[in-house]
Amino acid sequence: MITGKTKLLGVIGYPVEHSLSPLMHNAAIQGINNQQAQQNLIDYVYLPFPIKPEDLNTAIAGFSAIGVQGFNITIPHKQAIIPLLSEVSGIAEAVGAVNTVYKANKGWVGTNTDVTGFLAPLQTYNCDWNQKVAVILGNGGASRAVVAGCAQLGFAEIHVIGRSMEKLAGFQQSWLNSPLPVTLEVHKWDELSSLISQADLLVNTTPVGMYPKIQDSPLDENMFDKLSSGAIVYDLIYVPNPTKFLHQAQVRGAIAIDGLEMLVQQGAAALELWLQQSVPVDIMRDSLKKVNKKIQ
Ligand code: NAP
Repeated sequence: MITGKTKLLGVIGYPVEHSLSPLMHNAAIQGINNQQAQQNLIDYVYLPFPIKPEDLNTAIAGFSAIGVQGFNITIPHKQAIIPLLSEVSGIAEAVGAVNTVYKANKGWVGTNTDVTGFLAPLQTYNCDWNQKVAVILGNGGASRAVVAGCAQLGFAEIHVIGRSMEKLAGFQQSWLNSPLPVTLEVHKWDELSSLISQADLLVNTTPVGMYPKIQDSPLDENMFDKLSSGAIVYDLIYVPNPTKFLHQAQVRGAIAIDGLEMLVQQGAAALELWLQQSVPVDIMRDSLKKVNKKIQ
């Protein structure tokens, strides 16, 4: 119920209509209140804000003026928001992008919960990561969070595969002065066939295979024959679930992780920051699973 005291949370992006965050966060807020006594109810609502790039400064000043409590950031504002913040966390600085902003005494503070989200399903495996090799497909925004996560886990080798050597070189260069020590090698796609047998973790960070192009996969069928059977194959895509890429890996005995849990866990980490309390992760996950079923 919206009251005279309802506090505002939200997500900014352009476009933002596709975002599942309002659904997930409002389900969590309702879930918290369903388990609370009347006097402990929380009074928040989470809304989508389509903000054009040229309106970003005005919008953030407006957010301060109207007392917004915190917000998520999606494409195209994840980097552009940085100069408008009072502080950026070390992990957001390392990733080079902010996906969550919260209020502190000094002003807006930006952080990045995508790394926490990416790591959450991997941390359920008891693994000696510093003996392992990660192969990451794609060198865009999400790939940065994946590289930071793999570096945090201490992978022995991190290999990033991309289409453009120029972009790959820039990607590699960008980690040199990072607050997070990251050593990685970059490769064009034609080198993947010689790398794949070494991969203990193979992550798709490209949009290839995402709804509605569900027949696509970033890898040819025969490439999976080279994959070791104990490998973990992780696709950041969450619709469809599983993707063709994950299905191809699963039938060869690999451990498959889809992108839904990352989405849930990055959202839960943000909501915990705003509310300063634990949040119902299972309700957030269920809300997304229900809508995913409708889309597929
Ligand atoms: P992005 O910044 O646009 O990066 C996409 C990357 O994929 C780029 O390196 C691009 O290569 C590469 N790529 C695109 N099409 C390709 C193709 N046909 N073949 C090979 N490589 C291709 O996008 P992003 O923000 O990183 O998002 C990537 C995916 O991750 C999306 O599907 C998104 O939904 C998903 N994601 C999921 C979560 C989650 O919580 N589960 C979070 C973030 C993102 P070039 O640089 O050469 O163009």
